[in-house]
Amino acid sequence: MKIAVLPGDGIGPEIVTEAVAVLNALGESFELEQAPVGGAGYEAAGHPLPEATLKLAKEADAILFGAVGDWKYDTLARELRPEQAILGLRKHLQLFANFRPAILYKELADASSLKPEIVAGLDILIIRELNGDIYFGQPKGFRQAPDGPFEGSREGFDTMRYTVPEVVRIAHVAFQAAAKRGKRLCSVDKANVLETSQLWRDTMIEVAKDYPDVELSHMYVDNAAMQLVKAPKNFDVVVTGNMFGDILSDEAAMLTGSIGMLPSASLDAKNKGLYEPSHGSAPDIAGKGVANPLATILSAAMMLRYTLGKPEQADRIEAAVKKVLAQGLRTPDIWQEGATKVGTREMGAAVVAAL
Ligand code: NAD
Repeated sequence: MKIAVLPGDGIGPEIVTEAVAVLNALGESFELEQAPVGGAGYEAAGHPLPEATLKLAKEADAILFGAVGDWKYDTLARELRPEQAILGLRKHLQLFANFRPAILYKELADASSLKPEIVAGLDILIIRELNGDIYFGQPKGFRQAPDGPFEGSREGFDTMRYTVPEVVRIAHVAFQAAAKRGKRLCSVDKANVLETSQLWRDTMIEVAKDYPDVELSHMYVDNAAMQLVKAPKNFDVVVTGNMFGDILSDEAAMLTGSIGMLPSASLDAKNKGLYEPSHGSAPDIAGKGVANPLATILSAAMMLRYTLGKPEQADRIEAAVKKVLAQGLRTPDIWQEGATKVGTREMGAAVVAAL
């Protein structure tokens, strides 16, 4: 199996090096090929997503992505900025399902802003539809208001849209993910007000017939936002649209209190995926050897589970990460009094040793 390795900018190369070391320690025969992306792509080929990098990403079975971006590119034209590489990869590879697990290891329970008894042991998965909804729905733009109390005034408008096939494909992905976990799926919408949400809910109920082992529930998005901070452990898998998912996945991520720990995946219809940490390129700490590589290492574990069909190897990596945390090793972002402060390399080496 071929894995495209795209380290990118800032701390990207440092954290990806550690994830690659972990993959190489598994004893599998993966073919790993590296290519520049983001600012590194711009430096190498004049574009954040060079042709050769896109070709490699298309050919590969999975993509391990570091992070892109640096303040020094802020003056470039928008289409040449490093962040365009991610949007380009999502578009060209049709990555429509975004997986954002929020896991709080009990050793890090104090890192959350919530009480440990509410969050310790949290293990939920938010699945966000990534290609549709109000972000892309046409028509959108600015105009003179055609009606309403301020008719004739300048207004901005967007259109929330979902077709049945778009909801069906994300529903299947979500039911299949739930079937592999706690078998509970909560679909989040705003069906009491929005027609788009009513169609979303009706479609979820239809698709549920194919998955009798998974318990489907529905929740309005405002209630879901409350329940995520009130009783987050009541959730197993949550599936929702692009805009609600944008907000809820960040809310869920922050329950864990540590951005350096959170992996993510963006999948296409055949489970091919791009795997990356949820954080950015952290230019403020790049090159200092202090970045936390665990989000990237855990992204590699997700890749083994969801794309490469090796869930037992994913379990091994996750167990190794738990072990190094139990040993008290912490990079500065998750360090607390009494723990052993380590850098990027030591943390990566400790995970390899634990494997
Ligand atoms: P960021 O996530 O890079 O950093 C936010 C804060 O978290 C910083 O203080 C940083 O030091 C810290 N941090 C992030 N990852 C860490 C890790 N692994 N270990 C320890 N500390 C970590 O967000 P930002 O500063 O807003 O953005 C920096 C650059 O990253 C920008 O150019 C932005 O566009 C880009 N960005 C890229 C992605 C991506 O590649 N997917 C995502 C978000 C932001």
